[in-house]
Amino acid sequence: MALLEKFKATATKIEQLCAGGRDPTQVVIDHIISPTEGTVEGRHTILAGTNNYLGLTFDPACIEAGRKAIEEQGTGTTGSRMANGSFATHTALERELADFFQMPYGMVFSTGYAANLGTLTALLKPGDTVLLDADAHASLYDGCQMSGADVFRFRHNDVSSLEKRLQRLGDRTKDCLVITEGLYSVIGDCAPLVEIVELKNRYGAYLMVDEAHSLGVYGERGCGVAEVQGVMDEVDFIVGTFSKSLGAMGGFCVSPHAELELVRYVSRPFIFTASSSPSIIASTREALRQIKARPELRETLWRNANHLYEGLKNQGFEVGPEISPVVAVRLGKKEVALPFWNRLLESGVYTNLMMPPASPDRHSYIRCSVSAAHSEQQVESVINAFANLKDQQ
Ligand code: PMP
Repeated sequence: MALLEKFKATATKIEQLCAGGRDPTQVVIDHIISPTEGTVEGRHTILAGTNNYLGLTFDPACIEAGRKAIEEQGTGTTGSRMANGSFATHTALERELADFFQMPYGMVFSTGYAANLGTLTALLKPGDTVLLDADAHASLYDGCQMSGADVFRFRHNDVSSLEKRLQRLGDRTKDCLVITEGLYSVIGDCAPLVEIVELKNRYGAYLMVDEAHSLGVYGERGCGVAEVQGVMDEVDFIVGTFSKSLGAMGGFCVSPHAELELVRYVSRPFIFTASSSPSIIASTREALRQIKARPELRETLWRNANHLYEGLKNQGFEVGPEISPVVAVRLGKKEVALPFWNRLLESGVYTNLMMPPASPDRHSYIRCSVSAAHSEQQVESVINAFANLKDQQ
């Protein structure tokens, strides 16, 4: 195929996507007002699809920490940690993350995507075996694929499917890596980690859990789904991101295994990219402090999550299997979901449109993410916007 020929198919797909009036992948928030409000196309809009679970992007202490870091350390690091050195704050954040998860080792990456690529490509080599939840995030798939390991998918959150895969592997189960997420970000369901841990122990495997959407959200200390299910001690690698509840950008891996320290020497997505700028590290450190010091943020988040989930359910919408800060409404066909998403935006509510192949079970969803910063009134407005559109259908 000619080099540029392949874009024709992409252009056709985009045309179909724009059938509802606008391109859902290219929404511009012209003006950000707060963690939960902005203006889109000149309209005041409630942001209900940001993953800003604790609303910390506008937290005064986080902003002040970022501002101070820029003034004192400059706007960027201008290089990678291996070639150009780490700032003391990178290593401080690594220590703080490891302590937070009560694990001895921690490593920081420039994005959550790079954390998954960087950890997986270092851990896995051709000939190794991975068992990956079928609905795992693209960064987990990409990391496995780049490593050259043999990847077997098990059905999403299905422990018997995982066990069948383990049984079929025979001797290869020992040393194989099982990968799941904590909270899954499309329909807001949690992994059954207790059962998965039981299997990984029985078969002598290792376990990696991506807590990108669950950090700061689940558990008494806010560590995530492994904490709330009481199995944090049993997880070999916890990965996550700074771009959701921590309100910044970056990623991490923590582990009880000393070998994580050697990942630094062999992980190309760690070595060959610039380290996070000082302001990002500083605001992330402050956000982590807030997660520890302000459990009331989580309480408000869950109150809002309950409110939105129950409110949409009571309006007759088909919501996800459990209450979580990710509230997804299943609308079935994309011919229904696409105009629905457009009308929601026109009524001043920004949500995420999830369509196949990015959504599970070949259905289309309107995905909302709730924030501790949403007011009760804002949650009510989101419910009303959905309800009004239902009446018009
Ligand atoms: N893991 C999961 C489960 C995610 O949902 C995401 C981002 N949506 C990432 C990793 C990547 O994180 P980042 O956007 O910070 O690179």
